Amino acid sequence: MNPDGRGIMKAYTYIEKGRFGWTEKPKPALENPHDAIVRVTLGSICTSDLHIKHGSVPRAVPGITVGHEMVGVVEQVGKEVRTVRPGDRVTVNVETFCGECFFCRHGYVNNCTDPDGGWALGCRIDGGQTEYVRVPFADQGLDRIPDSVTDEQALFVGDVLATGFWAARISEIREEDTVLVLGAGPTGICTLLCVMLKRPRQIIVCEKSLERIRFVREHYPDVCVVEPEHCREFVMARSEHGGADVVLEVAGTDDTFRMAWECARPNATVTVVALYDRPQVLPLPDMYGKNLTFKTGGVDGCDCAEILRLIEEGKIDTTPLITHRFPLERIEEAYHIFENKLDGVIKVAIENK
Ligand SMILES: [Zn+2]
Ligand SMILES: [Zn+2]
Repeated sequence: MNPDGRGIMKAYTYIEKGRFGWTEKPKPALENPHDAIVRVTLGSICTSDLHIKHGSVPRAVPGITVGHEMVGVVEQVGKEVRTVRPGDRVTVNVETFCGECFFCRHGYVNNCTDPDGGWALGCRIDGGQTEYVRVPFADQGLDRIPDSVTDEQALFVGDVLATGFWAARISEIREEDTVLVLGAGPTGICTLLCVMLKRPRQIIVCEKSLERIRFVREHYPDVCVVEPEHCREFVMARSEHGGADVVLEVAGTDDTFRMAWECARPNATVTVVALYDRPQVLPLPDMYGKNLTFKTGGVDGCDCAEILRLIEEGKIDTTPLITHRFPLERIEEAYHIFENKLDGVIKVAIENK
């Protein structure tokens, strides 16, 4: 116990650029009537956690507990919280949003103007790679998990699956379309699953890792898979109008931005989900006359209730992505495997007893 009577917990923390480590912190308390305290039961590691570690998220605050992909059980709620109660199993949304500002009212919750709005958890305020987390605006940030849905089934709802769902939603996919998804990492596969819900005529996934190509072929046999060096000719040979009708760029490498618009047919939609390490060139003279529509990333994570319903109905299953499981106290090993893409890892689950 610490001096004000709260328990102490171990929290995996952003110490400084290049270094995460364990620290001891008091168990979080309610700070605002809209807050909830959630006991984390299952968490994960996201590529964005690695971006923080590598110093490429300037707004990340040294000393914060990292982790923004998690599910848990509500332990305590502030007096203004209406939608969840202590004891509820919940998904935690990566984004904090007030629900009332201009952007929230239009569904653009990523741009919520509250000081805590947007991606705050595990970046600017303490996150979930620990035992307990304080969630601001709990009515917006938490969604009840249906009884028939397990923690593992719900684990990615608040972040990587929300991203795939949002990307498929804004891409305006129609049934006659050929859809190209660049990248079959965790976000690419979540995007693929949500594109599949739109039932386009044909889906092509471009991926360079042989392990991930095998994963896609094994789990989604109706999807065509191609390696980057053959992607353009493959797409051209399989589309009637000089390219894919919709391209979703989820790879984020130095070559894939160009590949995305080169593989798109005239008047196509190109949705950029990827977070690049460096600026990309938009060579407008080269694409003049192609009349493309570009949409860019930063998930609006406000569809979690609908995603949970689709999981409950058996229409989305992300459990095959969980290739590794570790208890919280061994999270450093989990980071090592995830960061170095060892042992065929796609996603890790971090279990909290
Ligand atoms: Zn994330
Ligand atoms: Zn807002």
